[in-house]
Amino acid sequence: MGKIKIGIVGYGNLGRGVEYAIRQNPDMELVAVFTRRQPGDISLKTSGVAVCHYDEMKQYVGKIDVMVLCGGSATDLIVQAPDVAKMFNTVDSFDTHARIPEFYSLVDAAAKPTKHVSIISVGWDPGMFSITRLYNNCILPDAKDYTFWGKGVSQGHSDAIRRVEGVKNGKQYTVPVESAVEQVRTGSNPELTTRQKHTRVCYVVAQPGAELARIESEIKNMPNYFADYDTFVNFISDEEFEKNHNTMPHGGFVIRSGFTGENRENKQLIEYSLKLDSNPEFTSSVLVAYARAAYKLANEASYGAKTVFDIAPALLSPMSNEALREQFL
Ligand code: NDP
Repeated sequence: MGKIKIGIVGYGNLGRGVEYAIRQNPDMELVAVFTRRQPGDISLKTSGVAVCHYDEMKQYVGKIDVMVLCGGSATDLIVQAPDVAKMFNTVDSFDTHARIPEFYSLVDAAAKPTKHVSIISVGWDPGMFSITRLYNNCILPDAKDYTFWGKGVSQGHSDAIRRVEGVKNGKQYTVPVESAVEQVRTGSNPELTTRQKHTRVCYVVAQPGAELARIESEIKNMPNYFADYDTFVNFISDEEFEKNHNTMPHGGFVIRSGFTGENRENKQLIEYSLKLDSNPEFTSSVLVAYARAAYKLANEASYGAKTVFDIAPALLSPMSNEALREQFL
């Protein structure tokens, strides 16, 4: 059997991550990367792979099995996913939770009539965390869900800091409150407020001469982003920022804690945890596994938009079902 031919649409953090992930999956090969920028301005980490303009994609119909969409959720994917799904099977990491139903309909309307498979909102949240929440709820109906994020960089909150006047650079870490996590792990099912679950720790490089007290106050009181949390603002130098804050770690825990038995006498706790040095590289690794599933589903003529809930685990694996039964059951 030939290799699964992959294309990447959009070459940012996820695009690079997909390129690396394909190197770890010998049943796949990267055929081309598509960008809205000048292709000549993009240098890939892999030789022998074409870099093309987004508008040249049509020429690759029949030469690429699955396009991995690596555009941003805010504005790119809502346009790109339906556009590309008319020509190719796709996977994407759309993570604007509130708009997923609308996004699903848009992509389904593009993929189904043109006989393509599009797996949407793949990654870790939405993605692996969503699967965990679903399994946990089916298995333990009498229980409570908790999701903690971090310690990790929130792109949205980091962007919000950088928009404050007088801020040259900034990064925000979401940090789960240790005592709250421990309390949940005891199975006591506490009611926790937003503030009790996470703190927000900011590292800010100020413009020379900027009023630090005003910047700190503006950040801490910013509605929707920081006002509902205990927020800590640390002013640091450019050098310290470059040295200590140039990576994108993330992770978190999904916990469901509940009871079974005649009188709910037995506590049952499920925990799924991720500790990621690189959020985009992990997300890309999930996308690549789901690209394999998209390829298999297309071969079965099971067309249209899907979410991670629709994908049987065996479809993610390069191994045969017999080998999976032997190794993992
Ligand atoms: P980036 O900002 O790095 O890239 C987004 C797009 O911006 C790229 O596809 C690229 O498109 C363009 N771009 C990238 N770098 C540059 C540059 N230097 N100059 C101009 N344009 C550039 O975003 P990420 O890759 O970090 O993340 C993409 C999305 O992934 C996020 O919006 C987030 O929603 C989602 N995500 C989902 C997760 C999940 O668990 N489901 C987890 C993590 C992220 P082009 O090449 O066409 O210019």
